[in-house]
Amino acid sequence: MASLLSSALENFDHAASIIGTKINSDHVQRMRLPKARLELILAPRLGDGHNHVVKAYIVRHSDALGPSKGGIRLSPSVTLDDVTALAMEMTWKCALIGVPFGGGKSGIVAEPRGMTLTEKETIIRSFARNGAHEIGPVSYVPAPDMGTNERDMGHIKDAISWTRGWATTTGCYVTGKPVILGGIEGRREATGRGVANCVAEALIVFGIAENSATAVVQGFGNVGAVAAGVLHDMGVKIIAVGDIDGAVINLNGLNIPQLVAHVQATGAVSGFPGATKADTNEILELECTVLVPASAGNVITSENASRIRARIVAEGANGPTTPEGDRVLHSNGVFVIPDILCNAGGVYVSYLEYAQETQQEQMELKEVNDRLYRRVTTKFKTVHQLANEKKLPMRDVAMALALSTVAHALDAKGALP
Ligand code: NAD
Repeated sequence: MASLLSSALENFDHAASIIGTKINSDHVQRMRLPKARLELILAPRLGDGHNHVVKAYIVRHSDALGPSKGGIRLSPSVTLDDVTALAMEMTWKCALIGVPFGGGKSGIVAEPRGMTLTEKETIIRSFARNGAHEIGPVSYVPAPDMGTNERDMGHIKDAISWTRGWATTTGCYVTGKPVILGGIEGRREATGRGVANCVAEALIVFGIAENSATAVVQGFGNVGAVAAGVLHDMGVKIIAVGDIDGAVINLNGLNIPQLVAHVQATGAVSGFPGATKADTNEILELECTVLVPASAGNVITSENASRIRARIVAEGANGPTTPEGDRVLHSNGVFVIPDILCNAGGVYVSYLEYAQETQQEQMELKEVNDRLYRRVTTKFKTVHQLANEKKLPMRDVAMALALSTVAHALDAKGALP
């Protein structure tokens, strides 16, 4: 099975080969490698009275366009190489969506399920304290990713201001934090909303009315639940939803607001009244208009790609498709909206949060959502038009545009980066 890093490197090499000599080969070598990879050992004292050894990683892949930006993944299986791959993807995502950030990512090796809120806060604060030298408005600005949420980002902001004895931080140290602590309206929903905006554009491309489309969503967290909710509001029928423990199917359409309430009450999609129980990976193969992988990486592989019966795959997750799986989807005519475009709404609104906090401003939800919509759909159209002209998959074009933008910044910086 491909790792996230081998997939990221293969995608990079492929994009670099498409661009060829149009970018400096020195830059290609430079962009292939992360700028910094750091391993931290945290030792927070948890509820049992013991100090537990918890590994954490911070990777800054690039700062050519600005401070490294990328979420914190809290997972028992996250590795330094995964974090490196995800940081690299963030570099391309920020460049493509047009925000002045490089790519970064963090990982904390722990199981969030079953953790008490106090234990989670202690671990997050320990990460912030030990990573404080790396985190800041001109170095690395974290955000939520799998296993972390806005509450955790609030603790990071507080931990950093606390270590300095300040009431707050000056400038933006972390995005995706609660609005009351300087977060921005709509950030929590931005990634899923951006996914739904991309899906709406793809439906236009194929001339499919929203209310005649069906969707399957795997992953019902921050990204998947919001994407499913916005698609549901658009009139798309959500026929199946899965999480790590299982899936539910209703071919007549699931009521997403009720499913959200069920998950809030029970912690899982399983057991939702009126739906059939299924295996979480089985639903990837259901016949539907749109498949939204919004969970872990590498869920569409050479093993199952030939059985995917969706017309459109909208990559809500980071790296959900292996390069082999991608080739199979392409040869079967499945239209893939690549992750660096499809889920870039989150980092775009993080940029608005960063700008708002730097300028001590407050943006209203409508403005945030309007700007998100305009940016995501404009980028979708640019990538789609070029993909048509060059007869290339959307991913190849998106990656080529991103690499060229970063190379351009390296050129502009000069000899020392
Ligand atoms: P989350 O922790 O809020 O939710 C993750 C969901 O996926 C949960 O429902 C979980 O049960 C499910 N899941 C996890 N592993 C699974 C597996 N192996 N099989 C099936 N389901 C599984 O996480 P999130 O923030 O929604 O992130 C989901 C994906 O989107 C990740 O790949 C993340 O990197 C990517 N992403 C997140 C953001 C963001 O703003 N949160 C932005 C861009 C990309």
